[in-house]
Amino acid sequence: MMMSKPRILVIYTGGTIGMVEDSETGVLNPFDFTHLTDQIPEIRKFNYQIDSISFDPIIDSSNMEPAVWVRLAKLIESHYEGYDGFVILHGSDTMAFTASALSFMLENLSKPVILTGSQLPIGMIRTDGKENFITAIEIAAAKKDGRAMVPEVCIYFEYQLYRGNRTHKYNAEHFEAFRSVNYPVLARAGVHIKYNEAAIHRSTDQEFRIFTSLDTNLAVLKLFPGISPSVVKSILSIDGLKAVVMETYGAGNAPTNQWFADIFTEAINKGLVVCNVTQCRGGAVIQGKYETSAWLEQAGVISGADITLEAAITKLMYLLGNNYSPERIKKYLQKSLRGEMTV
Ligand code: ASP
Repeated sequence: MMMSKPRILVIYTGGTIGMVEDSETGVLNPFDFTHLTDQIPEIRKFNYQIDSISFDPIIDSSNMEPAVWVRLAKLIESHYEGYDGFVILHGSDTMAFTASALSFMLENLSKPVILTGSQLPIGMIRTDGKENFITAIEIAAAKKDGRAMVPEVCIYFEYQLYRGNRTHKYNAEHFEAFRSVNYPVLARAGVHIKYNEAAIHRSTDQEFRIFTSLDTNLAVLKLFPGISPSVVKSILSIDGLKAVVMETYGAGNAPTNQWFADIFTEAINKGLVVCNVTQCRGGAVIQGKYETSAWLEQAGVISGADITLEAAITKLMYLLGNNYSPERIKKYLQKSLRGEMTV
């Protein structure tokens, strides 16, 4: 029996990767995706069917919005049956947010969705974009026993494949721009692409569907020594606010001042959901480890364990969008829905 060629859909949203330098003026212009294989002739060597869709206009990822995540989810849904895998070219600045959001929005995913980009435009000699793009395509097409090797939303960058909702952008300059401190890499690309199969989520046979009703009525409150009651009070009393991600110190610690505890306790009693995420990029919140976090537990603050800020924000958008009660949201915040936290 003839095996059909892997079919990959590339969705180009924008970002540095898609730029080429005008040889006369030196100005960076967006890459012409209708001539994808002319720009990167190497991909012709794959015996794949590679199709592409380009946003028009393309966007710098600093302009990323939940509406664009919805657009991406809908594009994947409408092409889901026709392709074996998806590669999303995206600016690196907010890529970790997009990868986290999509991990929640794409329910029962059984195909790879690989986000990649670059620090240098694809049209520059020393670009990191070509390797990132070519290997992302190979990973999106990889199968084992007839099933996708990596049926997850991932970020591929600088020879490493990460679970998307475990990443953050940690370097604005190095080619190795992302880290996944609390979860092992899913694959490393060297001479061979070595998959860490034990770390990769297995696909389910449940029907794929998308969730698009994200609710953005949340805020982030980052603690710092000297934060004033008026700042905390103003944030917690924002009209329509449903949830707060509180970025605490170390293993989830916060001041023990009475005023601070009073403001939080009152807001939580009124139905505000508060999720405790550490300012440290590695390690986890352990409420009750110190006196400075024991009161949070009693006040009803939910520990985000080792979740990233990016995943906490997008998980809350997803949970709030489901219109669950605060109690149900708190329950799901303590569960790993897409491998975003260690429980
Ligand atoms: N500002 C760009 C973006 O995020 C940077 C990049 O592509 O890496 O869209």
